[in-house]
Amino acid sequence: MIEYENVLTTCPYCGTGCALHLQVLDQKLVGVLPAKNHVISEGGLCIKGWNVHAFVNHPDRLKKPLIRKNGKLEEATWDEALKLVADKLGEIKAQSGPDSIAFLSSAKCTNEENYLLQKFARAVIGTNNIDHCARL
Ligand code: SF4
Repeated sequence: MIEYENVLTTCPYCGTGCALHLQVLDQKLVGVLPAKNHVISEGGLCIKGWNVHAFVNHPDRLKKPLIRKNGKLEEATWDEALKLVADKLGEIKAQSGPDSIAFLSSAKCTNEENYLLQKFARAVIGTNNIDHCARL
């Protein structure tokens, strides 16, 4: 028996917030349909929204962090990658001060994730150097 489901969600590509239905066939994402009655997109999607499903199962998609070791990128665990980032941020802050660090957030993140990044920049690192790609 074939299982088919439409899953209502928000397009991850920009801050406009268009709604779309992910078409899931036998638990595999196969396509996208616009959400006809959504207050923002009103049944429309741009070319990026129409192709949201393409990156999910793409063979080139990065699914694990990579760390450069001896000049070569190698797969790492999330714990290893996050520890490396935390150690490097701590080193830079200790050597050159908090304003030597800057953060650039993304329209692909949720409002809550963007809020957390500015909070981390200001409260943990101690810098106001925080910006967002929607302004670029
Ligand atoms: S469909 Fe296009 S305009 Fe709408 S949220 Fe996605 S990327 Fe932005």
